[in-house]
Amino acid sequence: MSVLVILEQQGGKWHRMSWETLAAGQQFAAALGQPVEAAIVGNGVESLAAEAATKKVAKVYAVEHGLLQDYTADAFTAAVEELIRKVNPTLVLFPHTYQVRDFAPKLATRFNQVLISDVISARFESGSPVFVRLLFQGKLNGDVRVSGGGPYFASVQAGAYRADSLEPGSGAVESFTPALDASKIRQKPEAPFRESARAVDLTAAEIIVSVGRGIKEKDNIPVVEALAKALGAELAASRPICDAGWLPMERQVGSSGQTVAPKVYLAVGISGAIQHLVGMKGAKTIVAINKDANAPIFEVADYGIVGDLFEVVPALVEAVNKAKA
Ligand SMILES: Cc1cc2nc3c(=O)[nH]c(=O)nc-3n(C[C@H](O)[C@H](O)[C@H](O)COP(=O)(O)OP(=O)(O)OC[C@H]3O[C@@H](n4cnc5c(N)ncnc54)[C@H](O)[C@@H]3O)c2cc1C
Repeated sequence: MSVLVILEQQGGKWHRMSWETLAAGQQFAAALGQPVEAAIVGNGVESLAAEAATKKVAKVYAVEHGLLQDYTADAFTAAVEELIRKVNPTLVLFPHTYQVRDFAPKLATRFNQVLISDVISARFESGSPVFVRLLFQGKLNGDVRVSGGGPYFASVQAGAYRADSLEPGSGAVESFTPALDASKIRQKPEAPFRESARAVDLTAAEIIVSVGRGIKEKDNIPVVEALAKALGAELAASRPICDAGWLPMERQVGSSGQTVAPKVYLAVGISGAIQHLVGMKGAKTIVAINKDANAPIFEVADYGIVGDLFEVVPALVEAVNKAKA
């Protein structure tokens, strides 16, 4: 019995959420008193498996086959199903990626189970997991219990666990070659989807300066742009700013935008509505600048400045530039 974490790679590169999910796996395994194991699926993934084995894991399975070179739902489902039947884990964890959303529900049904998707935490009651998911755009947390025995299947929300909380270790790497049948793979892989060249991956940013309606008008955006530039940060925004076209949609953070987990998130003139908070509460340090001392953003902020952003932000830019000089 173990917690089995299915890590994700694309073209030999890690998906960032793999590490967050492994961190969740380590914590769940500790709570269950079971070892954590990991698997990486593809073709030629030994070096990635070896890298994963430098974390606290009992074993990493390099699940390899020529038919796993490019992702297809049928091949990945069959390969991971075979691995699960061999390993017999208590719990199978995935990062909540687009790929996982595509194949993991189908995989779970092969075990008469369902995928509990996008979980933010879990606790264990007599060895049975109780998963926590956000409901109603993050207004409520719901407990989800799965009836019957395992294996249980769950995917972990981006930013819910921190990759930097991963415990190091040294696990074994085991090669696993599933018996795949090409005639049972119905999909034909095409070139992977690429975001347009303009798209911004806020999820990879270490520092984010995010702007809200407190900025008042589009012409004032350069005020916060200057702070982002001084800090080497990505610029992001609350929804009204993107809805108004003051910044592109791809910079929106929140329940209908991106979920981010940077080291530092500066919320400038953002009130802290729940739909915004669900997208950024995973940030390591949150700094809020708002003229209303009662703004909800201060409830999640590690540092708060109550003041007019048009005075505070230029002063910060000056201080940052002076410190860098
Ligand atoms: C289904 C649904 C999905 C949604 N998805 C998202 C989402 O993904 N992301 C998102 O952000 N929102 C989302 N929203 C909208 C969300 O509910 C809020 O309306 C929005 O987050 C508010 O944006 P804001 O904080 O910029 O504006 P406001 O709530 O208007 O807050 C502006 C803040 O600026 C402060 N301020 C004003 N002037 C100054 C100044 N001079 N100096 C300093 N502070 C100042 C004010 O005190 C206030 O706190 C969604 C809503 C719904 C219904």
